[in-house]
Formats: sequence, structure tokens, C-alpha cells
Amino acid sequence: MNLQEKITQLNHQFPKSFRDEFYIPKGKNGNSMTYLCGNSLGVQPKCVNSFIQNELIKWSEFGVEAHFEGTQPWMYFHHYSKTQIGKLVGAFENEVVMMNTLTVNLHLMLTSFYLPTEKKNKIIIESSAFSSDRFALESVVRNHGLNPDNVIIAVNPTTENGIINFQDICNLINENADELALVLLGGVNYYTGQYFDIENITKACHIANAKMGVDLAHAVGNVPLKLHDWEVDFAVWCSYKYLNAGPGGVGGAYVHEKHFKSNLPKLAGWWGHNEATRFLMNATKFDPTETVDGWQLSNAPIINLACLHASLSIFEKAGYDFVFEKGKAMSDLTYSLLSDKKFEKYFKIITPANQSERGNQISLFFYNNSDEVFQQLREKNILGDMRKPNVIRFAPVPLYNTFEEIVKLYNALEEILLMPA
Ligand SMILES: *Cc1c(COP(=O)(O)O)cnc(C)c1O
Repeated sequence: MNLQEKITQLNHQFPKSFRDEFYIPKGKNGNSMTYLCGNSLGVQPKCVNSFIQNELIKWSEFGVEAHFEGTQPWMYFHHYSKTQIGKLVGAFENEVVMMNTLTVNLHLMLTSFYLPTEKKNKIIIESSAFSSDRFALESVVRNHGLNPDNVIIAVNPTTENGIINFQDICNLINENADELALVLLGGVNYYTGQYFDIENITKACHIANAKMGVDLAHAVGNVPLKLHDWEVDFAVWCSYKYLNAGPGGVGGAYVHEKHFKSNLPKLAGWWGHNEATRFLMNATKFDPTETVDGWQLSNAPIINLACLHASLSIFEKAGYDFVFEKGKAMSDLTYSLLSDKKFEKYFKIITPANQSERGNQISLFFYNNSDEVFQQLREKNILGDMRKPNVIRFAPVPLYNTFEEIVKLYNALEEILLMPA
């Protein structure tokens, strides 16, 4: 089957298109961009405008009373995304809440789930963990009076491409079992695009009697997740990448329901307090909601959440299976085209070849001139995103990218690398 036939077949297999529901950023000469960096900032759903307008109208018509008046009263605004978010991360509605931003939520979770003792205080993370996660962890460790160098154990990559084998993570967990307090992993690594076997790492972690936390920044909306069934203890994520909720979009948090009654230490604020008595200003004793909502601090960011609701309405329309199945087909096509032998002198793919170990993102490591390639792609209206010094990431997003755009990337790389002017 030639490439053209293959694309025809894929379009046949995935006939629904939601591209028209989004604004695709304009490139040069008024042509629309081949936007392959939805892993960094998802594009704007067209319906965001009306979702925001609804809240502005409520504000103008009801003022403070919009907390209890109109459709979707603000008092309960953080409830309205629970069904869809629960489906995206594989959790019950009372296990997920959208609040704050990712790093803030990570701190809130570490307050509850990193409870070091003299004997058990070690933390395992990826050596290539995202900077913010690492900074957050180190600061928390120091605030416990411990030295990060003695406590934080980084799993080094198994391969020179930066991929960590499942067995290496498990071995490290087993070796440190007596002293291990926590394992924190990115669900999908932001750099290599590696999707970890969260289920089985969680099992190993629990055998070591440690807590399992995941940062889903690059996983939510990208790969199917089953946090509850996998018994992950906690998770955090942001909504401006694959969830298209816009810059600075609201973060998310998940806590497994088995922890709801265990009275874990928490940072407290009025929005975590029992809903029935939240507005009784003479309440002097913090009475946390017995769900993940008990971790909330402040009242919900309404406009921010309205943007998320807009995007989730498109996920809901498309169907979650469609998103994940088309995503797999897109990453397979990208992987197979870019692993063409003719490119091997110029770059290698560092994302795992095995489909179950990756999501949509394919990361290319360039042996040289990655800046120049990036610029030349940009000239051709193709936008990936650059992770200096030499990796360019491309993420075809099933809701708004097309199979044709992947072919366009392939042709552009061919022109830039193999037929330089
Ligand atoms: C994008 C990303 C973040 C961003 O953190 P914010 O607190 O939302 O700014 C954190 N961790 C990872 C792994 C990310 O990819």
C-alpha cells in the first residue's frame, strides 16, 4: 500500500473530524499552521468565547448571587467537570477536582503523602523529571529538615535515548524498599514521550509499602488512564496541554478514595471545608469534605474553568475512545514515517517504538543543526517544539490535527534535510 492509500484508509477508519471546532493558529502568508505542539499549549476551542460569555452575563446580571443563581451556580462550579475528568483519568467523580495549577497541587499532595520517618524517607523520581517537579520535591524535603541529596533517588535512563526500563524502576524500588516513602513519576515523560507502566510500578511501590504519585501533565487527554483501578495514591496535572483549556489553565488533582477517611495532614482553606457549613463564618473548626474536594483551598477560578468546560464539551462529543484510538493511529504513522532509513544520518527517534510505551508525542534527537531545522520548519508553517539543545517534539493531536499534516511534516523534513537548496 502506498502512502496515499494508507492515508485514505486512515481517514476512512476515523471519519469524524473536530478540527473545525478549533482556531488553528495562522502561519506565514495567512496559511494555517501545521500545529504539532498541542503537548505544550493546546489550541483554542471556538466555543470558549460563549462559555466565558455565559459567566460574564451571570456576573453582570446576578453579581455575587451568581454563586447560587442561574444555570451552573458558581458555588458548585468545580463539580461540573468531574464526570468528564473522571473518564479521562479513570477515576470516580469524588476522586478528581480541578483547582489551582499543577505545581501548587503537587505541593498540596506532598503535604499529605510525603510523611517521612527516620526509617522511611526516600523518594524515587526520574533523573529527567520536569524541573518544577524536582524543585517542588527538593523544597518539601528541606522543609522536613532533610537533605535532598540523601533522600531523593533518581532512576537513570536504561538506554542512551533516555528511556527507563520498567525493570530498572522496580529494581530500585525493591532495593530501597525498607527506606522508601514515595515514588513520583511523570505518566508520560515530557522529553522522551515515554509512557510508563503506571499500573505495575504502582504494584511494586505498594509492595514496598510506599506511596505512588504521578504527574499527568503530558498524559491526561493523551493516553487512556485508570488511576482508580491501578490504585495510584495521588496524581496532579495541568489543563493547557492536551486539554486545551488555555494559557495558565486550571490544574487538576486526584486522590484515591481509600485515603478519604484516613485523616491525612492537609493544608486547609475554606473551599475544602464541608459544603453545608462553608458559609457559616462562625465555623472555627476545619471540617474537610470527605472527598478529594477536601484538598481545595480557595474558591474556584470561574473563567478559567469555563475555558476547560468548553474544551471538555468537544471531548465529550468526540468520545474518549475516538480520541485515544485516533491518537494511537497518528503516533504510529508519525513513528513509521520518521523512522525511514533516509533520515538516520540526521536524527533518531528517542520515543519508544512500542506503541504501549508512548502517547501522541514523538521526540526527535538531531545530531546537529536542530535550531536550523526548527526554523526551516517554521518557515514552512510547521510548528513543533524545541527542547534545547537538540530535541524537537511533535505531537499530532487527534481532535484537531490530520493524517495529511503528518505527511506534510515528513515531506518537509525530507526537503530540509535531503534536498537543501
Ligand atoms: C507542563 C508541566 C508542568 C507545569 O507546571 P505548572 O505548575 O502548570 O506551571 C509541570 N510538570 C510537568 C511534567 C509538565 O510537563
